[in-house]
Amino acid sequence: MIELNGVFKIYKMGETEVYALNGVSLKIDAHEFVAIIGPSGSGKSTLMNIIGCLDTPTSGKYILDGKEVSCLSDNQLAEIRNNKIGFVFQQFNLIPQLTALENVELPLIYKGVPSSQRHKLAKEALEKVGLSDRIHHRPRQLSGGQQQRVAIARALVTNPPIILADEPTGNLDSKSGAEIMQIFKQLHSHGNTIVLITHDNHIASQAKRIVKIQDGKIVGDSKIA
Ligand code: ADP
Ligand code: ADP
Repeated sequence: MIELNGVFKIYKMGETEVYALNGVSLKIDAHEFVAIIGPSGSGKSTLMNIIGCLDTPTSGKYILDGKEVSCLSDNQLAEIRNNKIGFVFQQFNLIPQLTALENVELPLIYKGVPSSQRHKLAKEALEKVGLSDRIHHRPRQLSGGQQQRVAIARALVTNPPIILADEPTGNLDSKSGAEIMQIFKQLHSHGNTIVLITHDNHIASQAKRIVKIQDGKIVGDSKIA
């Protein structure tokens, strides 16, 4: 599903070059639950941006769902993002003026789904994350963990093949973080492909596979029983 072959991302800072990704090759199959772990500055965000089609490699290939995406235009990348990837961020990125239900409906509005169907799909997604009793609450009326669950429902609602989560528990206390991990585990057991980026060993250990990145290189890759 996800295949990177010899991917480099080089940032030019005046005379110096920063090798944010230094020859990364990585394959992730459908239905995997993978944590990508590494210290600050190791290249996690850069890798997430490339996997999520928010950015393209300096060199090397990225093949997503059988399609080479390394050299597409911004518009083509945006289309792939909208169809293939559900994003979850550390900052929940919800719109404060909208209710939970309205926030979750947003991606469906962009896709032109009619309103009656939008309500139904958004309610189902909120049900999957255990928030059926909060659908008319606005973000500030919800706890951090509940807000992140709304964000996960929003990522799920268009049924993308991949959920890409960047430090999804980074802003949460450990109990709420554990609840969010339970939701990812449950989504994985229902067949979703999940790629989670974290610097936290305890969070990573709850995935089914741990890929370690350091100085822009993959230095470890292990499956968890
Ligand atoms: P992480 O997410 O693991 O903290 P990043 O992918 O953000 O790592 O960064 C990897 C390296 O690339 C770091 O040295 C960082 O300073 C550098 N870097 C990231 N983005 C840029 C950029 N836009 N311009 C220049 N250097 C960058
Ligand atoms: P995270 O907290 O997810 O690791 P970072 O703080 O590393 O994120 O980076 C946040 C954003 O800033 C990213 O989009 C990254 O590409 C950019 N960035 C990181 N390091 C640099 C840098 N040295 N110069 C310019 N932009 C950078």
